[in-house]
Amino acid sequence: MLKAAFPGSFDPPTLGHINIIQRAAAIFNELLVVVAENRQKKYLFSVNERASMMHELTAGWKNVSVVICDTLIVEFLQERNIKLLLRGVRGIDDFSYEFEISMMNKALGPEIETIFMPTDPEYFVLRSSNIKELASFQGNVSGMVPPLVAEALNCKYSLS
Ligand code: ADP
Repeated sequence: MLKAAFPGSFDPPTLGHINIIQRAAAIFNELLVVVAENRQKKYLFSVNERASMMHELTAGWKNVSVVICDTLIVEFLQERNIKLLLRGVRGIDDFSYEFEISMMNKALGPEIETIFMPTDPEYFVLRSSNIKELASFQGNVSGMVPPLVAEALNCKYSLS
């Protein structure tokens, strides 16, 4: 029984995240999308908004579920006996960052293996922070995020 967790901020979810989820759902028996709440980080969407978007976006996959985590990811995985931590990588910069984090996580929980999945080429420019910036200038983000996220971004920036 292969069970993996895919943690992230998902602020907001992009087509790049969804692509990783879709491909991972075809490999693992169970995939837990872990929406992180880190008090040190400033998010555009609340953790409940991010989780609720992820719920809707992953509703079509029976083996994918969404949870919120506001603790250390390693502890979170240990409590649930999940030993595979999945991270997406867009390129060498992501990889060097992810590699360092994976070394830290390995020290905290040696039984947990980090697995890197490279982005599919058409998503490699997609980055939540750039998409938020574009949306803040009323730029067209429709090719970068699912329609419900585009709508949520429009709402956020037209209210602010
Ligand atoms: P975090 O704050 O944890 O980095 P993100 O929401 O930015 O959260 O990313 C979550 C995961 O998804 C990370 O592993 C990141 O590298 C990966 N990711 C983000 N965008 C893409 C993309 N376009 N293609 C593949 N993986 C991606």
